[in-house]
Amino acid sequence: MPAKIIVQKFGGSSVADVQKIENVATRVNRYAKQGYRMAVVVSAMGKSTNELIGLARQINPSPSEREMDMLLSTGERVSSSLLAMALHTRGREAISFTGSQVGIITDTVHTKAKILKIETKRIKKELNRGKIVIVAGFQGVSTDKEITTLGRGGSDLSAVALAVTLKADMCEIYTDVDGIYTADPRIVPNAKKISRITFDEMLELAARGAQVMQTRAIEVAKKFNLPLHVRSSFSRKEGTIIMEKIPHIEAAIVRGISLTESEAKVTVCNLPDKPGIAAKMFNELARGNVNVDMIVQNVSHKKTTDISFTVPKDTLSKTMSLSRKISKAIGAGRVTADEDIAKVSLVGVGMRSHPGVAARCFSVLAKNKINIEMISTSEISISCVVHKEAGKKAMKVLHKEFKLGKGKK
Ligand code: ADP
Ligand code: ASP
Ligand code: MG
Repeated sequence: MPAKIIVQKFGGSSVADVQKIENVATRVNRYAKQGYRMAVVVSAMGKSTNELIGLARQINPSPSEREMDMLLSTGERVSSSLLAMALHTRGREAISFTGSQVGIITDTVHTKAKILKIETKRIKKELNRGKIVIVAGFQGVSTDKEITTLGRGGSDLSAVALAVTLKADMCEIYTDVDGIYTADPRIVPNAKKISRITFDEMLELAARGAQVMQTRAIEVAKKFNLPLHVRSSFSRKEGTIIMEKIPHIEAAIVRGISLTESEAKVTVCNLPDKPGIAAKMFNELARGNVNVDMIVQNVSHKKTTDISFTVPKDTLSKTMSLSRKISKAIGAGRVTADEDIAKVSLVGVGMRSHPGVAARCFSVLAKNKINIEMISTSEISISCVVHKEAGKKAMKVLHKEFKLGKGKK
């Protein structure tokens, strides 16, 4: 029987400096010694992607998306080749590849391309020769033969997509925390590690700001029912398994809380209150590849209405110019933006069968004098937009209210 295939992904913090790359090499080598066929995906070192974005902005405040992909994809080339070298010094055969070299084919949407397919011939050839294959995460090549990137945090997606395509026996995501917690442990120190979490819960937590896993990576893992093991690259402790279903006994009403400060609220005033107007606006934004999240339409007064919605801050300037254009075309009024918002979200599949979670959430925020600006709910989540300054506090008081922490704190 051929040896089992493992896909391991190491995030930026796990390869932040030479010593950490050595640490990763030692771990990878340990698995390789056990006879596994290893495909390893790496992110760029530390904060280097942010540094590259900073450089670009100094030169051009709104750089071309094609050039951004050319620039940002270099970060992962650095870490992947260094890791290959570190494995060579350990006497291992290893070879690094860019996304393009291993045939990660994407669509043509720069900065957030979607993977269309992965041609595994080259990887498989190297794996079967006993080489450790190291793939630069976060990148691919488009059907137009241009270099593309997969959106922030996209190395998670590279790893999951590779694991699916290679039919890997295991997919491990190594990071700087030892698993998924009930809330970001950097903000809520007594957050508790979750041993098992469903794809649906993780999807909601990630989509609502828990940066520990990229949302799209979870979508793909769910689609192909690929369990993921999220764990620390600095210890051998078992982390969190993300999987389809967990035994009922472990079901919690609220599984975790996430917070994001990376969205902005846009308000379009005085829209004509008639059918088709919202469709026109949001179709236009979708065509511009803007991901709109929460949408609230105010009560109509004098046959006009206001619509507010949230978008990622990094698409705000594009959103504003598109919205102004649409507003003019449909005879609406002013378009304003508010960047000082935070969105806090409660997530848990148990909410489905437990009414009253929303009411409890709003009461706690009210008791703590936190004003709610927007609300959205789904079967398994409740999100509230609050003022940016109140975001962390909202997360902490909700974490306490739903008794998610360790101990009594
Ligand atoms: P990597 O560099 O490995 O990709 P990230 O920085 O993208 O790592 O993600 C790990 C970080 O995610 C953690 O350091 C933690 O602060 C943050 N995080 C946010 N929400 C959670 C959560 N619910 N559980 C664990 N970590 C979380
Ligand atoms: N380096 C990229 C980023 O910082 C991709 C990743 O880390 O997954 O977003
Ligand atoms: Mg990440």
